[in-house]
Amino acid sequence: MRIGQMFYQTLKEVPKEAQIPSHQLMFRAGMIQQLSSGIYNYLPLALKSIRKIENIIREELAKRGCQEVLLPLVQPAELWNESGRWDFYGPELLRFKDRKGNDFCLGPTHEEVITDMVRKNLKSYKQLPWNIFQIQTKFRDEVRPRFGLMRGREFIMKDGYSFDIDEDASKESYKKMYEAYEAIFDRIGVQYRAVEAVTGNIGGNLSHEFQVLADSGEDLIMSCDNCDYAANVEKATSVYEKGTVDKSNFLDMEEVHTPGYKTIDEVSLFLKKESSSFIKSLLYLIDAEPVLVLIIGDQEINEAKLKVCFNADIVLLADDKIIDDISGAGAGYVGPVGLSSPVKIVADYSVTGLENMIAGANKDEYHIINVNPERDFNIDVIDDFGFVSEGDRCPKCRGVLDPYRGIEVGQVFYLGTKYSESMKCTYLDQNGKDQPVVMGCYGIGVGRTMAATVEQNHDDNGIIWPLSIAPFEVVVLPLQMNSEEVLAAGETIYKDLVSKGIDVALDDRSERAGFKFKDADLIGYPLQVVIGKKSLENSLVEIKIRKSGEKIEVPLHDVSQYVEAFIKENKN
Ligand code: ATP
Ligand code: MG
Repeated sequence: MRIGQMFYQTLKEVPKEAQIPSHQLMFRAGMIQQLSSGIYNYLPLALKSIRKIENIIREELAKRGCQEVLLPLVQPAELWNESGRWDFYGPELLRFKDRKGNDFCLGPTHEEVITDMVRKNLKSYKQLPWNIFQIQTKFRDEVRPRFGLMRGREFIMKDGYSFDIDEDASKESYKKMYEAYEAIFDRIGVQYRAVEAVTGNIGGNLSHEFQVLADSGEDLIMSCDNCDYAANVEKATSVYEKGTVDKSNFLDMEEVHTPGYKTIDEVSLFLKKESSSFIKSLLYLIDAEPVLVLIIGDQEINEAKLKVCFNADIVLLADDKIIDDISGAGAGYVGPVGLSSPVKIVADYSVTGLENMIAGANKDEYHIINVNPERDFNIDVIDDFGFVSEGDRCPKCRGVLDPYRGIEVGQVFYLGTKYSESMKCTYLDQNGKDQPVVMGCYGIGVGRTMAATVEQNHDDNGIIWPLSIAPFEVVVLPLQMNSEEVLAAGETIYKDLVSKGIDVALDDRSERAGFKFKDADLIGYPLQVVIGKKSLENSLVEIKIRKSGEKIEVPLHDVSQYVEAFIKENKN
């Protein structure tokens, strides 16, 4: 490609919503432009990198027997009603009607469509296993689109689905995809961790996320310093040491007046007690059933764990009316003792082993002191409903858990029969009996992977692409455009590299050397072949390695060989 004709311009200024380096750099490098919130134009440089990511994905999946399809973006509501997700998916699902008044949505994911397609084709166990994927545009009406391609509303995803005869076979498929993801992210050249994850709206109960480690990541990962345990904080657990109580310490409960003090912070200041002296009591609706959830006052309730524990689709804080019905008081005064209607009480482990605690009195403007869980109320379920914190002990080996920030670039799920049962996707087994097919699903955010790679690989001057997904592998920079020798050397090297199948750009613009260098650093070509008049007098050319900054003088006639060898050696 000759840069003089290339459709792009580099920019100095960034829009104010571009808050993280990858967004700023991809914007400044002329790769992406926002059309509307969370909706982007991919310019040629971005699309070249995206296509390389897609090809790596395709190659690794093909090696493992996966087959590619392309499914519609527009999906009929009937399928979502069958799976039950039309009502549960929430406002991320962009719904609309066609001219006949039929309901449709833009696909945020494709479990329904693929399950429908497979059930129309699946008859016998002899046809299985199947592993089918697509690389396609998704739409999710994200509440806070941000960070450029990292969290868009319209984005490119590879989504794949496996179909097996039973759980064992499905878990084999899961393992195969897990390994495919390792191979894909290794080839792309990012540093990542595969971590245990919760399954969210998708369903199923076994899942891993592939997290690119980066300070700006939205996800928090807890990782053991001693073994391979790593989990998203939504899922992470730690060793639980059950506290013991000495009943002889129990004091009598007493109501205290706490006028206008509702939050634990406010009441703890007012009563001059640490927040760890409180039992935090929040009333939730778990799939519409009211449940009082308790945790020690200095910790937060982990709603993802509530969802998993109750196998629930929707976990919501109860509104004032329900709080009033069940507690008899307003929010802020709810507690486990003296509720006006009976309700299921579930408690985090942190609530066990506590003595003489403070809790809401279920009476406006009052709290109770000296509440003792063992003595004063019944707990229906005790489980882990909290968040692990730094320094907690690993549940596998008792090592220390350390926090890291990550960008979720991919996720693999074991789905079981959630969709095949609700949508009747079955096959005839060896005994001629109908069985639901067992499924897995596997996503990679293609645009997010590109952005995460930039987030992890840049410096003050610009992007530092790994060779495998760089828009171009090499740029040739003739510095003095008025010198015939320089121009001729540039042309020769460029053509040589093209003929060797190397992805090369030639900066044939009549710009100053400084300008070309800046552009080349910003766009982040892994190699710069610099042709200057002076060194050319000695038949030498300078090659700069973007990543290390190293500059090597190479004889003019060896340049293309040198570049070819470098790429061979350094491309994953
Ligand atoms: P997140 O938790 O970040 O919202 P998710 O877990 O809902 O993502 P999945 O349903 O697992 O996403 O989708 C598979 C992959 O698609 C994700 O791992 C991520 O790389 C990508 N992805 C999801 N949402 C977005 C988005 N809004 N913009 C860009 N990529 C996305
Ligand atoms: Mg995910």
